[in-house]
Amino acid sequence: MLIDGKLVSKEILEDLKQKTQKLNEKPGLAVILANDNPASKVYVNSKEKRALEIGFRSYVYRFDRNVKQTDLIKLIHELNQNPSVHGILIQLPLFNHLNAQQLIEIINPKKDVDGFHPVNVGRLHSGLKPYAVCCTPLGIMKLFEYYNIELTAKSALVIGRSNIVGRPMAELLLQKNATVTLAHSKTTNLKAIAKNSDIIISATGKANMITADMVKKGAVIIDVGIIKNLEGKLHGEVDFENIENIASYITPVPGGVGPMTIAMLMQNTYNLFKEAQNAKL
Ligand code: NAD
Repeated sequence: MLIDGKLVSKEILEDLKQKTQKLNEKPGLAVILANDNPASKVYVNSKEKRALEIGFRSYVYRFDRNVKQTDLIKLIHELNQNPSVHGILIQLPLFNHLNAQQLIEIINPKKDVDGFHPVNVGRLHSGLKPYAVCCTPLGIMKLFEYYNIELTAKSALVIGRSNIVGRPMAELLLQKNATVTLAHSKTTNLKAIAKNSDIIISATGKANMITADMVKKGAVIIDVGIIKNLEGKLHGEVDFENIENIASYITPVPGGVGPMTIAMLMQNTYNLFKEAQNAKL
């Protein structure tokens, strides 16, 4: 069965739009773009578009390569103080001369819409409620929930150990009682581990990571990868055509995890807005 991230994300965004229409004050999302990478520009434009569509306030700060670390530090301090801004996102990667981690750490954790601040990462990994959870793994958890995919006692393989996908993904699965293996570039027996897994989440950015001979009948396959081929067409890292008949559920690329990431960004912004409103009472 195809996991339709486009459909699920549409429902989430529609629900947020309805709720936002009833608000006097609107949730505000600030995005900082300090890179000239074309993909980053596209991501930022679509974040802005979605935010405006559902009635949020959108603040986008675009910088050229002359920007200094101190300019961004100053901006983040201002955004931390701005009561109309509820979520702050730094689009990664940044220009090479900038230090992303230092900037992430000065975002107020209560406005850290990506869930990258060490306070939120620490809260997540201690089983405490973070102010926000990283959007991509959170979106995948929503897909499991939507399709009633059972996680308790299932063997789940996460491939890729990045801070934005693999690690938080493994933690969220663990919290839902899956037995989790977190594989990475130094893992040697990936095929054998994959073949024994009920759920495989592939997030490496490498084409053809998951082939049919690695998948057991009825497994759930989640493809996080976004790879552009030579003709500029997007595809994932799972051999979709040869696996769709073996898997019980599978995500397409595009139209699977990608749209969920953006929907979760909006959901996180809304939740941070609500928290800020409650704190005022
Ligand atoms: P990353 O480069 O930070 O991390 C890749 C991880 O894959 C590393 O931990 C590395 O150890 C592992 N890896 C690399 N080669 C491997 C191999 N041969 N075997 C096992 N593990 C291997 O990447 P990332 O930021 O986590 O992103 C991964 C992919 O997901 C990229 O294609 C990215 O574009 C995509 N992505 C998609 C979304 C979305 O919304 N769909 C969001 C974030 C990232």
